[in-house]
Amino acid sequence: MALEFETRFDPAYGEAVEIAPDIQRLTVNNPSAFTFHGTNSYIVGTSSLAIIDPGPEDEAHFQALLKAIGGRPVSHIFVSHTHKDHSPLAARLSRETGALVCAEGPHRAARPLRIGETNPLDASADMDFRPDIALADDELVEGDGWALRAIHTPGHAANHAVFALEGTGVLFSADHVMAWATSIVAPPDGAMSDYMASLDRLLERDDTVFLPGHGSRVRMPQRFMRGLKAHRKMRERAVLDRIERGDRTIAEMVQAIYRDTDPRLHGAAALSVLAHLEDLVARGAVTTENDPSIDAIYFPG
Ligand SMILES: [Zn+2]
Repeated sequence: MALEFETRFDPAYGEAVEIAPDIQRLTVNNPSAFTFHGTNSYIVGTSSLAIIDPGPEDEAHFQALLKAIGGRPVSHIFVSHTHKDHSPLAARLSRETGALVCAEGPHRAARPLRIGETNPLDASADMDFRPDIALADDELVEGDGWALRAIHTPGHAANHAVFALEGTGVLFSADHVMAWATSIVAPPDGAMSDYMASLDRLLERDDTVFLPGHGSRVRMPQRFMRGLKAHRKMRERAVLDRIERGDRTIAEMVQAIYRDTDPRLHGAAALSVLAHLEDLVARGAVTTENDPSIDAIYFPG
């Protein structure tokens, strides 16, 4: 199935945009190769509000959030995961509004660090984040006129969760499913086996629209997620193919598989190949001389 990405998006920095009844989107002015036009914060409710992913430490965005809140009470702040473009403003917004911060938990990696391994992702992680409420899988949080259900969706990050707005068909998919690009799944913080299982988890549901952490809405989420799964399976076959053709390092595989990708993303691509290899080794399809790492030597299993 062809995967069609939606790259049209008007970020309207500084302006809260009404995108559905009782849902406003406010995009942070932090565009990059990884964040697209910037991080989306969402404001849910009319009289008493929930804020989803307040965003990075950014004074202009904080002021824009307060303006959009317009003095209304904020009872809860939901955080999808602890990457620095999503979670750091939660603490300040909580102090300002008295809202409870809800998330799966503090930052953690999907697996322990191996001996001699340094974590290349530490710089992007919000290590200081602590939620007031650690949300269990499937936990429902009820506010004034809205209810949000947390669904654990590890893969992009070990503590990643998405939030379904009960009774509306709307699901806030954060960085797990986005319309503009595939998610980064990078060990040791992320894991491909978790990511694929999390796609299956959302495929069991019948949400009608996803509102992601970057870019515009995902209009046919079931169809799109089936496309995402097929895309990962294609990448997995490409990795196996490169091993069979004699590649023995991730760098060689990235050069071949990501020929047409922006070179600024090749570091992330290398971690994505590592994520596939960890999954393939765990499933017994590939063996390695040592644990999978950026420079382990691989053999078809
Ligand atoms: Zn992220």
